[in-house]
Amino acid sequence: MTLGIGVIGTGAIGQDHIRRVSRALSGGRIVALNDINADNARRAAQEWAPDAVICDTARDLVARPDVQAVMVTSWGGTHAEYVLDAIAAGKPVFCEKPLATNAADCLRIMEAEMARGRRLVQVGFNRRYDSGYLDLKAILDNGTIGDVLMVHAMHRNQRVGPNYKTEMAITDTLVHELDVHRWLLDGEYVSAQVIFPRRTSKALPHMRDPQIALLETKRGIRIDVEIFVNCQYGYDIQCAVVGELGQANLPDPPAVPVKTGETLSRHIMKDWKYRFIDAYDAEIQDFIDRASTGSPAGPDSWAGYAASVAADACVRAQESGRIEPIEMIAKPAFYSR
Ligand code: NAP
Repeated sequence: MTLGIGVIGTGAIGQDHIRRVSRALSGGRIVALNDINADNARRAAQEWAPDAVICDTARDLVARPDVQAVMVTSWGGTHAEYVLDAIAAGKPVFCEKPLATNAADCLRIMEAEMARGRRLVQVGFNRRYDSGYLDLKAILDNGTIGDVLMVHAMHRNQRVGPNYKTEMAITDTLVHELDVHRWLLDGEYVSAQVIFPRRTSKALPHMRDPQIALLETKRGIRIDVEIFVNCQYGYDIQCAVVGELGQANLPDPPAVPVKTGETLSRHIMKDWKYRFIDAYDAEIQDFIDRASTGSPAGPDSWAGYAASVAADACVRAQESGRIEPIEMIAKPAFYSR
């Protein structure tokens, strides 16, 4: 069976996912598109999905009988509404991160999904599908480096545009780290603090960059994450986990070492599109496979909620300068199955 997919939001990552469903993956077909800017949707259809219908509204798209699953890749502030529409229609939905821009909306999504009685939501935490992170997790889980004590992580972008605000370093960028560390360590956070080193002159005037988030888990593991989104040189994701017996590092993506003119060099990726291309392919293929035969199995609404609660605390910490508590509801049995 080929899964009919409707995509809401045809910007950067929307187009990238439309391309991969149409050209790189199997089992899915893009049948409908919607974007607040219909020209964006038409351009995406022309390029990657010429048979797709352009819908006037997201609600029209979700209601179409040929749309068997929905992908939400619009601006973050719209995610909750569209995910709730898909749940109400009983259709599996892949939602790019963040699941919602606040924890209260994530709770509404979980309640709607539980009321439906079946898992319908997969959140776009693509790093869980990255081979480097998967290998790192396997090493932590098999005890090679002993009990984990600390994590030192880093998220660097070359530069960001004028719409990117200081808070988005948390809600748009750190949110990946907030998910991946609780997954790697299999534990929840209890507190967060955000500190600001000396500001780079390369950031636009309205932005404080870089920032460092300091997280603590229930087991007392301390995680420091540098977020530096105007680093100039490339897209660079690092993670070093320190245990009682050793250290394990996230591998850099493979690149040919080049020796020339008494210099040894290696290419660094430009952005997320290339750095995590295999992980995006794997997460969307998983969504297609699982949605075709039942329910998605990737990162669930609970993961979206947990990251959102932690992000809310980090945003408060940006403002207060204090250590802020991270408090979650008890995990519903529905998400422990
Ligand atoms: P983008 O290039 O700005 O694309 C968003 C698209 O959604 C634009 O075409 C925008 O139209 C449209 N849109 C805005 N409001 C809408 C609405 N109410 N209904 C339908 N469409 C609407 O942004 P992006 O970089 O693709 O990011 C989209 C989402 O993916 C964000 O949540 C982002 O955090 C996430 N993302 C995830 C990753 C990852 O690594 N997993 C990477 C990149 C992005 P206009 O241009 O007219 O506003």
